[in-house]
Amino acid sequence: MTDALNNSYYRATANAWEAQPAFIGEGDYDVAVIGGGYTGLSAALACAEKGLKVTLLEAKTIGYGASGRNGGQLIPGLRWSMRELDEEFGRERAQAIFDLAYGAVDLVKSRIARHDIQCDLKSGHLEAAYKPAHFDAMQRDAEYLEKQFGWESEIVQPKDMGQHINGDGYHGGIYDSRGGHFHPLNYALGLATAARTAGVTLFENSFVRPEDVNARNVILATDSWIHDLDDRLGRYTIPIMNYNIATAPLPDAAELLPSDAAVADSRFVLNYFRLSADKRLIFGGGEKYVQTPPSDIAGFVRKHIVEVFPSLANTPIDYAWGGAVGVTMNRLPHMGREGNVFFAHGFSGHGALVTTLAGELLAEAVTGTMERFDVFANLPHRPFPGGKWLARPIATLGLLYYALRDRL
Ligand SMILES: Cc1cc2nc3c(=O)[nH]c(=O)nc-3n(C[C@H](O)[C@H](O)[C@H](O)COP(=O)(O)OP(=O)(O)OC[C@H]3O[C@@H](n4cnc5c(N)ncnc54)[C@H](O)[C@@H]3O)c2cc1C
Repeated sequence: MTDALNNSYYRATANAWEAQPAFIGEGDYDVAVIGGGYTGLSAALACAEKGLKVTLLEAKTIGYGASGRNGGQLIPGLRWSMRELDEEFGRERAQAIFDLAYGAVDLVKSRIARHDIQCDLKSGHLEAAYKPAHFDAMQRDAEYLEKQFGWESEIVQPKDMGQHINGDGYHGGIYDSRGGHFHPLNYALGLATAARTAGVTLFENSFVRPEDVNARNVILATDSWIHDLDDRLGRYTIPIMNYNIATAPLPDAAELLPSDAAVADSRFVLNYFRLSADKRLIFGGGEKYVQTPPSDIAGFVRKHIVEVFPSLANTPIDYAWGGAVGVTMNRLPHMGREGNVFFAHGFSGHGALVTTLAGELLAEAVTGTMERFDVFANLPHRPFPGGKWLARPIATLGLLYYALRDRL
């Protein structure tokens, strides 16, 4: 990933962090965690709390990947609605998935509180309907979620949307007070500090393969980069480039987003946005199915901003960056174990909460407690068709089709 893509508002406002040394091949560990995003950091922290001798190795710097670049939107659950999960897997499995996936909200909040992580945590998430038909489906899903699983949210009628957003083009929404938003890189750095305090030996600027480290167990937590380490596992995810910007601080921020909720809309290629602590609009929109970034990221994202907030057509954009979203065929995370190697990746744009959970489940699995890990490890997955060379072009065609449907 080029450094231009790493030029984020989050890097510019990161909490203090002492750079960690590079790995020189020494040491003997119970667990080596490869990858310093939320999944790896959470796994390393949880393993250390279980009394294991742990090292975490990060190819670049802590939070270099999606964990330090994402929209910061804390959206309870997975990419599938509970109705879909119920229909596909039956109530018993769906209930187990619900308990874990929706429980991730409290898990993340309790980590933030326990380790006193300063990451601008705010409450409230709004899913905004891009088409009236989307609003109908959202209401049905929200009612199902409440009736069948007891998770309450608020249906926001089109006429009441102004309580949350004064922007164009939305037809109602669902407000979840337990969702929210945070500064993603500062959450990662906070987890890293907690892991170090718990005894984890951290290395940065250390691209490694499992065989480079002397450890009885290995956790692969490299998300979009898994194909660098394992050809076979690499076929289960593809990286999709997604771009974010931060405007200059907005004098009228409270008018645009009065409840200070994070907002994600219901398009296949969604727009998602929220206010930072210093009242900038952080906006993500538009995807690219090739790795090369647009030459003008700010201009690329601005087109989408103006659709929602025409008044921001000339507002300065101070930061623009991008990152790779690791996506699986069915949009559910891919977790599993092969001997003493454990892995979790492919959170499909819904990883800000579930990765912390995945890390804890990986730590349980390493210590032989498989029950909760297996709830995810038993989800069915298929590799992208087309093998090593054609998987990305074929998947791209499929994604372009769905992106086109947004416009119809
Ligand atoms: C632009 C963008 C916006 C997003 N917005 C949201 C959002 O608003 N809400 C949400 O829920 N999710 C969002 N996501 C998804 C979410 O950020 C990810 O699901 C999550 O951060 C993945 O965490 P991870 O720890 O598994 O992977 P990552 O954070 O990507 O970490 C993997 C790490 O592994 C390191 N690595 C790779 N190979 C090696 C190696 N061989 N040796 C050592 N280290 C290695 C990388 O450098 C990287 O730091 C977004 C993602 C992107 C890119």
